[in-house]
Amino acid sequence: MAIQLFVPTFHVEECLSEIRECLEKGWTGLGFKTVEFEKAWCEYTGLPHAHFLNSATVGLHLAVKILKQTYGWQDGDEVISTPLTFVSTNHAIMYENLHVTFADVDKYLCLDPEDVLQKINSKTRAIVFVGIGGNTGQWEKIVEIAQAHNLKLILDAAHMAGTRLHGETPGKEADAIVYSFQAVKNLPTADSGMICFREAEHDALARKLCWLGINKDTYARTAGKGAYKWKYDVESVGFKYHGNSIMAAIGLVELRYLDQMNAYRRQLAAWYDAGFKGYEDIIRPIPVAPGCESSRHLYIIEVDKRDELLMALNDYEIYPGVHYGDNTEYRMYSYAQGLCSNAHYISKRIISLPMHTKIDYIKLKNIVKSTISSIY
Ligand SMILES: *Cc1c(COP(=O)(O)O)cnc(C)c1O
Repeated sequence: MAIQLFVPTFHVEECLSEIRECLEKGWTGLGFKTVEFEKAWCEYTGLPHAHFLNSATVGLHLAVKILKQTYGWQDGDEVISTPLTFVSTNHAIMYENLHVTFADVDKYLCLDPEDVLQKINSKTRAIVFVGIGGNTGQWEKIVEIAQAHNLKLILDAAHMAGTRLHGETPGKEADAIVYSFQAVKNLPTADSGMICFREAEHDALARKLCWLGINKDTYARTAGKGAYKWKYDVESVGFKYHGNSIMAAIGLVELRYLDQMNAYRRQLAAWYDAGFKGYEDIIRPIPVAPGCESSRHLYIIEVDKRDELLMALNDYEIYPGVHYGDNTEYRMYSYAQGLCSNAHYISKRIISLPMHTKIDYIKLKNIVKSTISSIY
């Protein structure tokens, strides 16, 4: 039977019972389960604020927008980011008329602190760091650089639900952390995300902006008293970015299983590592940074003839993926072509092997065997 890259596992009966609550109560929108999920997320991560959104893409946009507006960045100011990511990361910068300055990646496929330093100039305002596959890379060095150069810091944690660094949720130094609970992420819903600001004012602003700029506070004091109940002020041109109770219901259930699922993913990764041991000349697993307990959203190897390997594995009905193509090869980011040689080189050589909780030891051994024999 075919082995896909990602197959989400849902705890169906529990999800249905949480969703049933929404349906019976007649409350599927903003509030109710979204509030419950935000509380549960803050407790789980230890982060001070969390706001539930309809995707991580909109979360990244909100993070950039709110920091730009708060700190008075100008159009054309620069944000340093990685070419090895899903385009959401970089589009979010473009939405706000800022310039994406690409810095190269390191052996973890995350931003390389050395190259980030090279890319800082008087127009640089922020760094967006992506924890590829759940890896924390050299996050702590990036934090030091951001602090030393007075730059804001956004963590694209789309792959990092449940990742720990030295036993804790990484990113507490970031101005904003954005998680994705998209359909095939390691904490799946269907489409949703979470934005976690460090500052309470940013969190409050996000709550208004993600609901069209509506502010109910002005009338909240009189809200109980009939006539003014419907009234609200609109402070700015906001967006329809908030999440809903059906997605939150699924998220609440899957959060209960997140650590268990991630532990199984790490077991799969350990089996892959063991299977490829002795083949380092042809198959090089991308390492996890020291101190990082990765969510293992991805298991990535580096090989010489990636495209041939992909085709050969497809013949075995094994369907891996690639995370990611070099973004500077896309037409709209082509202005930066050739500036990040490591990212460009590695993006032609990486392949993400199937990684999900429906793979067992037997299937995994089969993937390992097929991979090795395809290369030889
Ligand atoms: C999936 C992903 C996103 C976008 O998440 P959505 O919830 O689908 O909007 C952003 N960044 C990275 C690195 C991703 O993998």
